[in-house]
Parts: sequence; structure tokens; C-alpha cells
Amino acid sequence: MQALKDKIVREGIVLNENVLKVDSFLNHRVDPELMAGIGKAFAERFVDSSVDLVLTLESSGIAPALMAALELKVPLIFARKQLSLTMKEDLHVEPVYSFTKQVQSQVAVSRKFLSEGQDVLIIDDFLAHGEAAFGMARIVEAAGSRVAGIGIVIEKAFQNGHAKLAEAGYRVESLARVASLADHRVTFAE
Ligand code: 5GP
Repeated sequence: MQALKDKIVREGIVLNENVLKVDSFLNHRVDPELMAGIGKAFAERFVDSSVDLVLTLESSGIAPALMAALELKVPLIFARKQLSLTMKEDLHVEPVYSFTKQVQSQVAVSRKFLSEGQDVLIIDDFLAHGEAAFGMARIVEAAGSRVAGIGIVIEKAFQNGHAKLAEAGYRVESLARVASLADHRVTFAE
């Protein structure tokens, strides 16, 4: 998606060879127009798939996932990383290791909103080693539902998440694929 790549080049900050900071339009401040375009791009890529709902992980996945859900005309669920006092109901819970925070957290979705027999499109902001996407896929499958696909805003193609997810049989669609963050520059895979 060219508008996304242009934005990454203009505003992305390469923190080191492994981490890209995009807090001016995705991870802190959010660019609504770009998010609308991202929603359309995901909807185009998954137009042939049956999708009953979109699942993401709070908080940075919510903006792009909401726009994809709006385009696909399905509900959005965001998995919670912190269990609040109001979440007393029956939960699907999976451990997920965070690439950026380097801690493991318990990710939860209420059974009330994710039941069996649903086709679920997983959306996330970044793909690195696939931990977040695999965690969400485990939640979907534990609920007796099916992963319709995995949509990623920014994939770091030099890390192994895409290969692992593809090997496990999941369809992964990334809107921008970063080949390298070496020399403080963003190079795209295609
Ligand atoms: P994975 O679970 O695939 O190893 O990493 C993906 C998750 O880690 C995403 O949900 C995202 O929040 C975070 N992440 C991974 N790499 C980056 C990065 O380079 N920049 C930012 N901002 N987040 C990242």
C-alpha cells in the first residue's frame, strides 16, 4: 500500500535494526485518513474470504482493525491484555510474549463475544516473530472457530513471523513489508 509506505518513509523512526517507531500515525497519535485507507486495503485483500468478525489486540491494533471491520461490515473484538474488574465472565485466555515489552502477558477474550463456528480475521499493527498473531489464532481455535486470515499493517519481513504463520497454514496479508532497518533506513521488500 503506497500511501502507508510513503508515511513510513516520511515519519517512521528506526530505533535500531529490529524496531521501527511509528507513533506519529499508528502507535500513539493516529492518522484517521490513513486508517480509512488501511481498512479498505484489508477489505480488498480479504474480499473472497468469509469473515464474521475481526479480532485484534489492544491497543495499537484497534484503529486499523476497526476500519477493516467497518469495510467488511462485521464486528470488531479487541483482546484485552489486562484483565479488568469488569471482566468477570467466562474468558478464553492465552499467554502472549510481547516483542516490544519483552514480557509475557495473559491475553483474554470473553466467550460471550467469541463463540464457535465463526470465521475470524486477525488484524495487528506489526508482525515480527508472530507471537501476537499465534496467540490470537490459539484463542480463535480454542473457541471452536476458524482463522480466516491474518492482516498485518507493517510486516518486518526480515524476522520470521510470516514464515512461521504460513507454515502453520495461515494466510498472511501485509500492507507494507519492510526488508531491512539497517543503517537507520527503511527498505521495503517489494
Ligand atoms: P510479534 O508478536 O509478531 O513478535 O510482534 C508483533 C507485536 O509486537 C505487535 O503487536 C506490535 O505491537 C509489537 N511490535 C513488534 N515489532 C515492532 C516494531 O518494530 N515497532 C513497534 N512499534 N511495535 C512492534
